[in-house]
Amino acid sequence: MINLLGRIAMLRSLPAAPEPCVLEVDGRPVKLSFKRNVRCKRMIMRLAKDGTGLVMTLPKRTSQAEAHRFALASKDWIRKNLANRMVATEFGDGVLVPLRGELWRISCPGGRRGLVQQDHEAKTLIVPGDLAHVNRRLTDWLKQQALQDLTRASHHCATAMNVKFSAITVRDQSSRWGSCSHARALSYSWRLILAPSYVLDYVAAHEVAHLQEMNHGPRFWRLVLTHCKTAKQARHWLKTEARDLHRYGVKTP
Ligand SMILES: [Zn+2]
Repeated sequence: MINLLGRIAMLRSLPAAPEPCVLEVDGRPVKLSFKRNVRCKRMIMRLAKDGTGLVMTLPKRTSQAEAHRFALASKDWIRKNLANRMVATEFGDGVLVPLRGELWRISCPGGRRGLVQQDHEAKTLIVPGDLAHVNRRLTDWLKQQALQDLTRASHHCATAMNVKFSAITVRDQSSRWGSCSHARALSYSWRLILAPSYVLDYVAAHEVAHLQEMNHGPRFWRLVLTHCKTAKQARHWLKTEARDLHRYGVKTP
């Protein structure tokens, strides 16, 4: 109890973190948020979990001015290490978006609202209607595409592994790409539709395999590898590239 009270007193004595600010990196605005940590000995800058900006953790006594000086002095480092990975990308006319691992250009002719169309030859996604709603509408369309691909991939694996699932949904989880509940419901991140198809197929194989093995033991991995030949490459891709997928489109909690 004393420990807990002591800890609360310590947290209370932490000065408030500075307000978030916007840093300009290569002419692009980058949101920088701050937080304090009593155990932190030096300032630490890292990518925000949702990939849309930076978070700086400050020791207890670091002033706002010091924090800002450190941020400005870190611009080169940010440019080199993070800049291409962290700018939130709203869907709009001319913006490039990865779809099944290939880059497509968004075209917004305006006019009346209609269905999103794919021009396969020009690698263009045509989003008609009010420009103000393009970000939301294309996100919704990508979610439908994700559900379609993930349903197909999950059924394929379930048949091959001789298991059944009860439901399938797509969401916008920030920390995992898929999950499988005890009620045998599969849930995936819609952002997998942005990744190469072999990555989506692997995540489906992984979650469907959990219907047989609710663990990550050797039998589980044998099952995954038997039904997904690209598991190794896909896992590597998820580790190295997938974070970038979080910057696209509309975020839903
Ligand atoms: Zn798993």
